[in-house]
Amino acid sequence: MNSKAVATPTRTKEILSTYGFSFKKSLGQNFIVDVNILKNIIKHAQIDKEAGAIEIGPGIGALTEQLAQYADKVVAFEIDQRLLPILDETLSVYENVEVINQDILKADVKRVIEETFKPGQRIKIAANLPYYITTPILMKLLMDHLPVESITVMIQKEVADRMAAVPNTKSYGSLSIAVQYYTQAQVAMSVPKTVFMPQPNVDSSVLHLQMRTEPPVDVADEAFFFDLVKASFGQRRKTLMNNLVRHFNGKMEKVEIQECLDKVGIDPKRRGESLSIEEFATLANHLYTR
Ligand code: SAM
Repeated sequence: MNSKAVATPTRTKEILSTYGFSFKKSLGQNFIVDVNILKNIIKHAQIDKEAGAIEIGPGIGALTEQLAQYADKVVAFEIDQRLLPILDETLSVYENVEVINQDILKADVKRVIEETFKPGQRIKIAANLPYYITTPILMKLLMDHLPVESITVMIQKEVADRMAAVPNTKSYGSLSIAVQYYTQAQVAMSVPKTVFMPQPNVDSSVLHLQMRTEPPVDVADEAFFFDLVKASFGQRRKTLMNNLVRHFNGKMEKVEIQECLDKVGIDPKRRGESLSIEEFATLANHLYTR
């Protein structure tokens, strides 16, 4: 066993040169070369020896190795076949790791969970995500309604800020509502570019998403609610009323929209970015059942 962690500049360089591995920018390959950052991710993910862990994009095994040491069992989805022989070597001493060579966006994660972990086991997702598909991956994981407790991921700072944003801020938008409908979102820490090889062009943060057992608001029709939220942020500088008139495009008269807004006590001159998730839910339910 090599006593030096994978997530060190010397060991990572050594592994890359032994295998003649060249980074694929198109797959968002920026590997972590700092063990402290990884230990922090594990701490924020609250991973312990009882927990099962799912990783997306193990790369050469920097985070996977740490997860194997702290968790009961680890499953990692990696799209790049060239990394499989490397992972075979770097993770050879760990008997509690399984690597699945699959695109996470196409994976049946629920089935993998059923087949891999013990019934009722606490499961955590932890990853340094490929930045080019951060949002699709997270939305897929949320929409799949997986039996996991939390998702802790390193992502682009700007996207983490948007997902955890509160009303009346620049970052607040339909993505904040979509994520916060399913989770309690919190930016856990910021991460400097220097811990990556190669260094990315953007700043990074670790985002912690604690899954909710119930949505924070009662919504009569989820598709109608999410469409309304998206439309309300459609043209950010326009009033809520203008965006709603545009959204319903004659399917609902302006007076009807005005009546609903009056009924729920929301000033039509407000901007979408000032509405809380509760206000969006109340408005959507009134418009839906008018
Ligand atoms: N976990 C490693 C680390 O922290 O050093 C690597 C992280 S790197 C930012 C992202 C990893 O995700 C790469 O290994 C890349 O090949 C993999 N990846 C990219 N797209 C993927 C997809 N659709 N499904 C699964 N893995 C993917």
